Amino acid sequence: MSVMTAARPDRLLDRLPPVRGRYTENADLSRITWFRVGGPAEVAFRPADREDLLAFLAAKPDGVPVTVIGVGSNLLVRDGGVPGVVVRLGRDFAQMRRDGEEIEVGAACLDLNVAKAAAAGGLAGLEFLCGVPGSIGGALRMNAGAYGRELKDALVWAEAADAEGALRRLTSDEMGLGYRHSTVPTDWIFLGCRLRGHTDAPEAIRARMAEIQGSREASQPIRTRTGGSTFKNPPGRKAWQLIAAAGCRGLTLGGAQVSEQHCNFLINTGGATAAELEALGEEVRRRVKAHSGIELEWEIKRIGVAPDEPPAGEAAHG
Ligand SMILES: Cc1cc2nc3c(=O)[nH]c(=O)nc-3n(C[C@H](O)[C@H](O)[C@H](O)COP(=O)(O)OP(=O)(O)OC[C@H]3O[C@@H](n4cnc5c(N)ncnc54)[C@H](O)[C@@H]3O)c2cc1C
Repeated sequence: MSVMTAARPDRLLDRLPPVRGRYTENADLSRITWFRVGGPAEVAFRPADREDLLAFLAAKPDGVPVTVIGVGSNLLVRDGGVPGVVVRLGRDFAQMRRDGEEIEVGAACLDLNVAKAAAAGGLAGLEFLCGVPGSIGGALRMNAGAYGRELKDALVWAEAADAEGALRRLTSDEMGLGYRHSTVPTDWIFLGCRLRGHTDAPEAIRARMAEIQGSREASQPIRTRTGGSTFKNPPGRKAWQLIAAAGCRGLTLGGAQVSEQHCNFLINTGGATAAELEALGEEVRRRVKAHSGIELEWEIKRIGVAPDEPPAGEAAHG
């Protein structure tokens, strides 16, 4: 059973508090995610501003699952959709404010736009963000990194809303940031952060960004329907090498494929379902384990339910 709401007497929308932002029932998430797959959000919520979000969190009924998503570049939404409320932060969360050698950025800012703004203002040290196609919210959750730097290296503090709608400010240390990981509770929603850089000439910064982008073009299938690196690199090892050694390069399942170009990337070649992509990932894990004894850990976040799983409130979130 999917999370379609029409047949259910207890319509979630009727139980949600009034907001100034927008609720959308059965919102198609496949249009948002990079993979272009997945079922609908039972209700999508786009808060008008931070007060609207905090008030919603404080007033929402107990037991309603809330999931925040960024721009879906590290996300596999299962075909049965996401029960509960899916929060997407909009324009009001995409502000940037420069302050000396630091910059405050909203969680909905694209990493690329932050890198560009920093470069234009002669603020170096954030170039790596141009290699990560997500939002700042996703970068905080994942401790996004590229080309030898990660968000943690530049982070001064981050601000989040906790599950009850209280505002929290966390230092980098308090966030437990590690390799594609943070220990901040998974139901907290990042609102923005302050990043530190250092002064340099805009041309020099832009040249480093061009280098990063050129190298990405050459090594990653960035123009395909993908979710970025599928698995984390195990300590001291490269996931792609283990996958290649296990003979998985180019492996397909329905419309899902292990990228020929970078075999730690899964691709939707056209008509893939989320189930096919997830099953292919699990097959890769099985083969790598059989070949090398190493268990790969998913880096991609999988959310929602399969079409035959129980609906809202009864299903576990990935
Ligand atoms: C082609 C390609 C290349 C990539 N290269 C890199 C790379 O070099 N380095 C790298 O680190 N990543 C890379 N990624 C992965 C991805 O871009 C990053 O993980 C990014 O940080 C995810 O941001 P997002 O906005 O897309 O988040 P989503 O994919 O939408 O969500 C990812 C996770 O972040 C959480 N999240 C999103 N917003 C918030 C918020 N405001 N508050 C709390 N949690 C939130 C979600 O709940 C989810 O758990 C790549 C992806 C692609 C498709």
